[in-house]
Amino acid sequence: MRHRIAVVGAGPAGLTFARVLHRHGHPVTVFERDPAPDARPPGGTLDLHAGLGRLALDKAGLLAEFRTLSRPEGQAMRILDTDGTVLRDWRPRPGDEANPEIDRGQLRDLLLGPLDVEWGRGVTEVVPQTPEVGALVRFEDGRQEAYDLVIGADGAWSRVRPAVSPVTPHYTGVTAVETSLDDIDTRHPDLARLIGDGSLAVYGVNRGLVAQRNSGGHVKVYGQFRVPADWHKDLDLADAESVRSSLLTLFDGWAAPVLELLRRGSTFAARPLYVLPVSHTWTHVPGVTLLGDAAHLMPPLGAGANLAMLEGAELAEAIAAQPRPEDLDKVVRAFEERMWARAGRWAKMTTAGLERLVSPDPAQAIALFDEVQPS
Ligand SMILES: Cc1cc2nc3c(=O)[nH]c(=O)nc-3n(C[C@H](O)[C@H](O)[C@H](O)COP(=O)(O)OP(=O)(O)OC[C@H]3O[C@@H](n4cnc5c(N)ncnc54)[C@H](O)[C@@H]3O)c2cc1C
Repeated sequence: MRHRIAVVGAGPAGLTFARVLHRHGHPVTVFERDPAPDARPPGGTLDLHAGLGRLALDKAGLLAEFRTLSRPEGQAMRILDTDGTVLRDWRPRPGDEANPEIDRGQLRDLLLGPLDVEWGRGVTEVVPQTPEVGALVRFEDGRQEAYDLVIGADGAWSRVRPAVSPVTPHYTGVTAVETSLDDIDTRHPDLARLIGDGSLAVYGVNRGLVAQRNSGGHVKVYGQFRVPADWHKDLDLADAESVRSSLLTLFDGWAAPVLELLRRGSTFAARPLYVLPVSHTWTHVPGVTLLGDAAHLMPPLGAGANLAMLEGAELAEAIAAQPRPEDLDKVVRAFEERMWARAGRWAKMTTAGLERLVSPDPAQAIALFDEVQPS
């Protein structure tokens, strides 16, 4: 088997694909725009589900290492009313490992292992050639290289996607503002108690506040609300005091301990939530395919990274199982059909889920959790 395969993007999709292919003895190069693995904060915690992200790690031979890093206690979930009343308080039972949490940075390092990643190699464009030749990858540094197969695993604003689809993400109507707290157990013991071992969520009319523990006493806090996509255009996000005061206006009237989660955050980032259309597909293009958010960006309701990883693992296994060059295109086509069907189901669920979580009727959000949490 000697296909030349390029992966664009060292996120969960690209790294899982590369790691599983590497496990099967196939060389693969990952091109990543970030100059180094730690060039920017890796983001919050991810819960990896059995049958999705954890199955992918199993295919990569990394399940045992994952178990040593992951936090089953992070599955705990507490829901408060806006007046601070505890409405739900789920705690995992001993041995319950349905959806353990792992920090994104830890997951990235776990997947990276021995992989050959070319950092600082941003891709500007992928140009499909003839079915026999594959596709040409053009880089920000002006170089270009031809590959039998290019895997676009470059996330929401994929530069590979235009090679197969003209579709671009659209705004969901919901913006998230993210802040974080460090050393919560020693510096903010009151908030540590409020949050518990896992996540805390509070839902009001058209808005919500979620706090999630990461490892090492780090907590990410997300305020979510329905506003126009350019809500933050007049806000200087570097001016923490003015962001804080805008947020406190949006969450006016909520219980004081809950608002402390925003008051004590030091830096803020605005993330308008964009999605691709539910059931985004394309006419197959030989030599190029997409994985993860590049293929099916959906609301962040716990599925995106899981699907991205499973897709990466499945495509890599399928390629490894059919090593003849003439079969490569057939393998990719079959994979795409499978990915589209599964991602379409999840996109539908998460789109409906976001409507209920950030809705005029907060009882909808609680009901959604009741449906997915064990009683
Ligand atoms: C707040 C939040 C919480 C979430 N929580 C969860 C969760 O709990 N569980 C879950 O399953 N999902 C969750 N998600 C969704 C999850 O983060 C994404 O679905 C997942 O990261 C997608 O992985 P990916 O590899 O497809 O893309 P990404 O993670 O976006 O990775 C893409 C990579 O490609 C690189 N790249 C981009 N452009 C280029 C280019 N032109 N050239 C080279 N490299 C490029 C990027 O730098 C990046 O490293 C959450 C999302 C958000 C926003």
